[in-house]
Amino acid sequence: MTYNEDKKYYGILIHGGIKTKRIRNLNQTETIKISLKKSICDGFNLLKENKSAIDAVEASIISMESSGNFNAGLGSCLTIDKTIEMDASIMNGKDISAGSVGMIKGVINPIKLARYIMEHTNHVMLVSDGAINLAKQLGMFSNQIYINKNKLRIYDKLIRNIKDKGQENDLSSLERHYSQYHDTVGSIAIDKKGNIAAAVSTGGRWLKLSGRIGDAGVVGSGLYADNKLGAACATGHGEYMIRLALCKYACDLMKEKSASFASKKSISLLTKRFGKNTGGIITIDRKGNFGISHNSESMPVALINSKDGKMKLYFSNNKIE
Ligand code: ASP
Repeated sequence: MTYNEDKKYYGILIHGGIKTKRIRNLNQTETIKISLKKSICDGFNLLKENKSAIDAVEASIISMESSGNFNAGLGSCLTIDKTIEMDASIMNGKDISAGSVGMIKGVINPIKLARYIMEHTNHVMLVSDGAINLAKQLGMFSNQIYINKNKLRIYDKLIRNIKDKGQENDLSSLERHYSQYHDTVGSIAIDKKGNIAAAVSTGGRWLKLSGRIGDAGVVGSGLYADNKLGAACATGHGEYMIRLALCKYACDLMKEKSASFASKKSISLLTKRFGKNTGGIITIDRKGNFGISHNSESMPVALINSKDGKMKLYFSNNKIE
């Protein structure tokens, strides 16, 4: 798909996080595909009905959070203390309003809370107890148990690996062991009126320290959207995205360049500064062109735009031209 000044499309692009190792389990691949298909249809159907980009990105993220198949919402990973602390944010490119939550617990759809903060408070970011109290007031808090056997199995495996190597006191070694588990979800869209939006949601990183907030809670790092530029959503090592303000960087590039250029250039910066297997990004420019880039083995994505109305799913190998 080439950048075309004369043509505008509406559409939506979502991702299910970078994978630093090849997924060998076919069931797992199939599950991701099914969830991505459902999620993108939830978003695209709204765009077709003339609903806004912000509605579309929220709907697609809700679908992935509720599926339990990603590291977000019901599927969120565990901290080193065996707890769950989620981050999410949403941004409306129409007026660059934004809402985000950090260290949130007991909420199946943190993205709804982030949208509430964006639209009904004077703030951008609420974290921890304050955010949880708001969720309770809004009836979004649930006592559903998110810590299932599978999560405990992964937790035990990661801890065992670290102990076997005698690295339990070396925090940097945690990075090497859990770096393969990235399933954060992100969504960007442009609607029929040309309004652009972005949303992202995550349980963060496996074995993270309690209290850590990653890029998914930080506007400019895990996401950015501005009708005058475009939108971007990142996944991967959140600390690096924060240090580079990666999504704002990608959006600034789209002032002059295409989404595809912006995604490639952003990931090349990430790789230059922090090496491979550190992240991926999806972008959309003002004309509705998409960009996808990552420096990992794969990054499952799904997209549809009004150019042909056909859903496309990619598991790996980068960029759409
Ligand atoms: N970026 C997320 C974080 O650092 C993790 C991910 O993308 O999987 O919290």
